[in-house]
Amino acid sequence: FDDRDGVIWWNGEFRPWRDSKLHVLSHGLHYASAVFEGERCYGGEIFKLREHTERLLQSGRILGFEIPYTAQQIDDACNETIRRNGLTNAYVRPIAWRGAEEMGVAAKATTVQLAIAVWEWGAYFGVEQRMKGVNLAMAKWRRPHPETAPTASKAAGLYMIGTMSKEAAMDEGADDAMMLDWKGDLAEATGANAFFVMDGEVHTPKPTCFLDGITRRTVMDLARKRQMKVVERVIHPDELPKASEVFLAGTAAEVTPVRRIGTQDFTPGAITETLMKDYDALVNRRG
Ligand code: PMP
Repeated sequence: FDDRDGVIWWNGEFRPWRDSKLHVLSHGLHYASAVFEGERCYGGEIFKLREHTERLLQSGRILGFEIPYTAQQIDDACNETIRRNGLTNAYVRPIAWRGAEEMGVAAKATTVQLAIAVWEWGAYFGVEQRMKGVNLAMAKWRRPHPETAPTASKAAGLYMIGTMSKEAAMDEGADDAMMLDWKGDLAEATGANAFFVMDGEVHTPKPTCFLDGITRRTVMDLARKRQMKVVERVIHPDELPKASEVFLAGTAAEVTPVRRIGTQDFTPGAITETLMKDYDALVNRRG
């Protein structure tokens, strides 16, 4: 992925994609002092850019560092990176990390670096293709207690659990993993929040130890606009047989139906399809 054309914004200047390399003694690499964002640009406009930028800044503060740019500077940098790379439909990846000036667990002398990379990411499959749904394996690893890890931060270190879970799921032939929280209740997939349709209502776990996704909140609003009842609550995996539909929501996943979790099958249905279409219309400004 590192050997390609294009430019990456790095601390206020553009560098060629291939030359955007950092030192092996970077604190972010050794101690995971890194936070990032995942955004999507639709038709030249980054969806909910300011919310993502605010979350990026807040993710850094939770880890104890201040990213040395204002929200406006970061928004402008994201837009300029899209423009300089000649893209309109793209994924946007800002990442901030502590540099290599000091080695050790505590490293207050390090500088905080910020880079922004963008790459082409057209529309996913059409609604019909996506309606087939994805297959999730139950993860062995759980989302940690919020006093064990900085779970409200989109912190690189937390993705170690996601990578292990997703790779294990893929080894079993599944597409992704469904993760439980530290108590054993349903939490989220490795890169998207989860929704369960029960008795015609849209239920979703309370985000007490994982990201309260921007897409999650958008989908909850869309459901309410359709007069659907939205319920945030603790959901135990024993309740899965009660769900008539299951879907995931995230910037990359958008709204993606689920056809299986572990040994439980689901049939993507009308509520999922409605929310997929409403989300597509909203991000593509047809709504
Ligand atoms: N959970 C995890 C672990 C994620 O990586 C993401 C994607 N950022 C989400 C949830 C969904 O968040 P958002 O809708 O803000 O992209």
